[in-house]
Amino acid sequence: ERVVSAESTVTEEITEQQLRPALLKEYIGQDEVKDNLSIFMKAAKLRQEALDHVLLYGPPGLGKTTLAAIIAHEMGGQIKTTAGPAIERAGDLAAILTSLEPGDVLFIDEIHRLNRVIEEILYPAMEDFCIDIVIGKGPTARSVRLDLPPFTLVGATTKAGMISAPLRDRFGVLARLDYYKPDDLAKIIHRSAYVFDVELTKEAEVEIARRSRGTPRIANRLLKRVRDFAQVDGHDRISLDMAKHALERLQVDPLGLDHIDEKLIKGIIHRFNGGPVGIETIAASIGEEADTIEEVYEPYLLQIGFIQRTPRGRVATPSSYTHFELEYRKDG
Ligand code: ADP
Repeated sequence: ERVVSAESTVTEEITEQQLRPALLKEYIGQDEVKDNLSIFMKAAKLRQEALDHVLLYGPPGLGKTTLAAIIAHEMGGQIKTTAGPAIERAGDLAAILTSLEPGDVLFIDEIHRLNRVIEEILYPAMEDFCIDIVIGKGPTARSVRLDLPPFTLVGATTKAGMISAPLRDRFGVLARLDYYKPDDLAKIIHRSAYVFDVELTKEAEVEIARRSRGTPRIANRLLKRVRDFAQVDGHDRISLDMAKHALERLQVDPLGLDHIDEKLIKGIIHRFNGGPVGIETIAASIGEEADTIEEVYEPYLLQIGFIQRTPRGRVATPSSYTHFELEYRKDG
């Protein structure tokens, strides 16, 4: 299992719950999204209406679920959480929708994975707060319209491009979450350390932040593992050296890269002369799935400018040669 993966594991969910800020002002970074949401929420409260439906998109671990819970809390409602693939039948969705109270948030994670039939039930629910359900079977079947309380749908997705246009158009607020700056990650680590009741020097916080791939979930995970090392070694305040030592033992390099990133980049450099090389070809050469490379490994490497996407395939940039101490020598 990868320490620098942005995906959450089942055992991690409990700690994630503890670490989630409850109010918008405790939510660190993403200033533009926060400022906009705060205005939209104030306006909705003044009108005594539910907040418009919100679509959150961006890579995993950046705080979409957290933001959905904050919206519910700030608007004085409860949050009901589900995920696109979990809603299989019309009845599943009807049961959730009819259990909502006015002002509640329905959070649908991985909303791009909803099936078409379910999506179509969602449209009138989003637009007019009602659903049509069919009661009975055969010739006696009849359609009944049910009114729903005003609620806010918060959808989350890592793949905005895979949401159908009619669904996307029904969201009043579209917010894109970006990778966090190291400063903001350091603040998140500081806050989490307080929740965990561990002490770190400022330099140790910054070091963990630098290796967290712009992702709060990874920052919190690295903090937990570093804390484990420090505790076993009998220290109660984590210094820069201790943090570095622990991160080295976790095989997370100074930029947050691990052996898989290294294998990917060195693969492009050594086997394909730095590229361009097609994703399928790289995948086959290093024994990984092309989809996994595109969705999991590559986004952060693109973000920090270590690889580039060109029409002819992936290219390793000079920065990646420098990082792995290789001479940049094309066609050599
Ligand atoms: P996503 O739903 O985008 O995968 P989550 O909302 O589950 O991400 O966030 C992952 C973890 O990171 C949570 O434990 C959460 O507490 C923390 N986190 C995310 N964003 C922030 C933030 N802006 N401030 C503080 N903690 C955050």
